Amino acid sequence: MNKGKYDIVVLGAGISGIGAAVLAKTKNFSVFVSDNGTISDDDKAVLAQYTIPWEEGHHSTPLILEAQEVIKSPGIPQKAPIIQQLHEQGIPVISEIEFAKRYTHAKMICITGSNGKTTTTSLIYYTLKNAGLNVGLAGNIGQSFALQVATCNFDYYVIELSSFQLDNMYDFKADIAILLNITPDHLDRYNYQFQQYIDAKFRIIQNQTENDIFIYWNDDPVITAELDKRNIHAQQFPFALEHKKGEKAYLQDNQLIMNTPSNTFAIPREEIALQGLHNLYNSMAAGLAASSVDVKKETIRDSFRNFQGVPHRLEYVASVRGIRFINDSKATNVNSCWYALQSMDTPVVLILGGTDKGNDYSEIEALVQEKAHTLIFLGVDNSKLHTFFDKMGKPMIDVRSMEEAVQTAYKGANKGDTVLLSPCCASFDLFKNYEDRGDQFKTVVRNL
Ligand code: ADP
Repeated sequence: MNKGKYDIVVLGAGISGIGAAVLAKTKNFSVFVSDNGTISDDDKAVLAQYTIPWEEGHHSTPLILEAQEVIKSPGIPQKAPIIQQLHEQGIPVISEIEFAKRYTHAKMICITGSNGKTTTTSLIYYTLKNAGLNVGLAGNIGQSFALQVATCNFDYYVIELSSFQLDNMYDFKADIAILLNITPDHLDRYNYQFQQYIDAKFRIIQNQTENDIFIYWNDDPVITAELDKRNIHAQQFPFALEHKKGEKAYLQDNQLIMNTPSNTFAIPREEIALQGLHNLYNSMAAGLAASSVDVKKETIRDSFRNFQGVPHRLEYVASVRGIRFINDSKATNVNSCWYALQSMDTPVVLILGGTDKGNDYSEIEALVQEKAHTLIFLGVDNSKLHTFFDKMGKPMIDVRSMEEAVQTAYKGANKGDTVLLSPCCASFDLFKNYEDRGDQFKTVVRNL
């Protein structure tokens, strides 16, 4: 391990950390990467290629505390001892997005919200690509913004931002900021204080001026209550189900209406490939963003007709003996499960459970009562689920593997039912991540 003083230390060698290190190196900083877990062989090869020193399995605190600036990966909690020590020493701790923005003049379209980020980000990217724009896709969606700034030359970026990324952003400004919704999530990382999570989400509009655009869901009570408290400088493009006051996108006569200064048009709802009420909202946000960078209405319409969605979000897998299987593994919080249940038009066998993030199941109680006849709890510790749902008197079965979950659901389902994997929880108790959980679901279903 190298000793010495580094300009920049990158904490965490995930996708964003490696990207940040490469960008720092190409900008001639001395940079060091420290990960207290393990660094993959592929990432070590990238670090070797750029001659970036690294350590794994621990943090060398004295060396890190000598850095001019630290770039923190979003997975590392603010409460981690090394972050606390950096704060005590007054050493700036920033996110990869904050760092990379210093080195590009591209137009930033940034998306946050508790749910719908990846879907909306992907739809905007797809639409801008269709319009022939030179655009990059980055952020929480799993591609490093910094790496693209180091190696590409895009005119636009569509960036998905989690609250953890926003937490360490200070001077960053989004040209177009999208706030889809705010419901309690990740409260374990915010001292179980909802307001702290709300504040993190609202950082999406920090530093915006009257030349910038703020797109938000005007039916969200949390967002609208917050708007009254804040000084908003950007042009506001609210969207909502109905046109009440000032909405720039809404539904009228079953048509999605867009009405921005540069674009006025309607898209019949049945032409939008993405299904479900939540995806109508995501489409409104995406349409407003695309209109704001002057994408033509014909291109937006074609894109909405053809965009097939993202895996693990209400993804149809197969029908077996008249039973439909839907993979919504990305429903890692209660609100996304609400939308999944809400869009179900058949009786449901619901598979849920995993790592609880401070969930309040009362939000889905009525829909579970109405739509689900059997509940399958897939998790290491299902006690909280039992405490809440036992009173419903429905069949509830504990399982420990996806094989068992799917087999049990299949046995409990009748012809015409839907087996829905929409877990409300994180996946880390039994799976590597939500993709692994969804992939295992699909594999077992396809082998039925
Ligand atoms: P995120 O990136 O914010 O986690 P995704 O697009 O990956 O959002 O979707 C996550 C889950 O939330 C999926 O189960 C999806 O069906 C559901 N969902 C998508 N958009 C919305 C929305 N606008 N409101 C509520 N739930 C949504």
